[in-house]
Amino acid sequence: MAGIYDRLEVDEDVRRQLQQPSRIHEAAIPVRMDDGSLRVFNGWRIQYDQSRGPGKGGIRFHPDVDADEVATLSFWMVLKCAVVNLPFGGAKGGVQVDPKSLSRLELERLSRGYIRAFYDVIGPDRDIPAPDVNTNETVMGWMADEYAEITRMKVPAIITGKPPGMGGSAGRAAATGRGALYVLDAWAERKGKNPEDLTIAVQGFGNAGYHFARLAQESGYRIVALSDSQGAIHADQGLDPEPIWRHKNETRELKGMVYCESSVCTENDVDQISKDDLLALDVDVLVLAALENAITADNVDKVRAGAILEIANGPVTSEADKHLNEKNITVLPDVLANAGGVIVSYLEWVQNRTGDYWSESYINERLADQLVGQAQLCFDRAEEEKVDYRVAAYLQSVERIASALASRGTQRYFNGD
Ligand code: NAD
Repeated sequence: MAGIYDRLEVDEDVRRQLQQPSRIHEAAIPVRMDDGSLRVFNGWRIQYDQSRGPGKGGIRFHPDVDADEVATLSFWMVLKCAVVNLPFGGAKGGVQVDPKSLSRLELERLSRGYIRAFYDVIGPDRDIPAPDVNTNETVMGWMADEYAEITRMKVPAIITGKPPGMGGSAGRAAATGRGALYVLDAWAERKGKNPEDLTIAVQGFGNAGYHFARLAQESGYRIVALSDSQGAIHADQGLDPEPIWRHKNETRELKGMVYCESSVCTENDVDQISKDDLLALDVDVLVLAALENAITADNVDKVRAGAILEIANGPVTSEADKHLNEKNITVLPDVLANAGGVIVSYLEWVQNRTGDYWSESYINERLADQLVGQAQLCFDRAEEEKVDYRVAAYLQSVERIASALASRGTQRYFNGD
């Protein structure tokens, strides 16, 4: 970030303030397993910076979660909320667990245990969690319910991404994928490209990747490849994400890339390829919607796509990013491209606090206004300052955070400079 701070000539206070998280909460979460045994899981809630508002950020359940990862993700949330101008700071949570190894009851106990561990450090004016990898609206519902049990109050604004019956917002489930599509549309229009002429490969056919692929296909883009953690499929003539997703959910079986057993795949002559081969396809847009570090110094040379759309957080390492720049491959950065989820989370929080609930079409309109408006500012800045979109997004973001910090007085102010 040093280059960004230098370019903006931010006060030394800003660098110091953003150097580390403001609060790191850690807990051992005991869970009674179905066989009667007790397991204890490591969990975190990290609040990085709250100078622009209460903390905001998802909760991840994954075996590789640790304090460093949660801290990094919480910093990206600070940047993301500021890039799209939401009145939030950044936070993130995580539990080191393989949720696929738990029964539904065990998962419920763990979700409730997470809230028992952290209920006193979160709150609608303090820090508002949301879903992330391997957590969904059911988990958010259990968590909101546990908070209500502990506090003896119905406080829907405590958490976003809840089921609609518990105060969840219309449009939240698809918001990240939809937002990414709005950002891609805005960029394509600026570059004079038609969706019908663009081919797309999607790494990570999960919640965000599925909604993106479905909506992009409806808008005329051609989805030629999809992958998940087990493998990938490819069809030059285009894939239909909707039935593939249904099939994946019905069978729950990912081994050996079961997509190809569905009638859609047989009809379409789909090739099975490796998940690494998907990253090397010659497509117009490579969408990264899985996890961090998908493109690294080791595989960046294989990338042949014209542009990368980052739906995952941190899917390109900084070293790989430099190579992509040298190769003139456009990157639509995560803090902008995946901000649709946090924008609709913000709208859910507003609805919960006012008790006034809106239609999905109104929410999608507000999402488009906020995200496309901020994306255009970022694209303009990139052109004016001749920097890539990631640098432009960071400049937009840090400028706003610096301004919030400066409102409280900085070294320059107190020295009378
Ligand atoms: P998810 O768990 O629903 O989906 C992730 C998908 O990636 C799964 O299908 C998994 O099988 C696949 N995957 C994992 N490793 C892979 C690999 N090596 N190759 C190909 N596929 C692989 O999670 P999600 O909610 O869709 O989130 C995906 C990414 O988007 C994460 O980085 C998350 O932080 C980010 N994100 C999500 C949201 C949201 O609202 N869901 C918001 C902002 C950012």
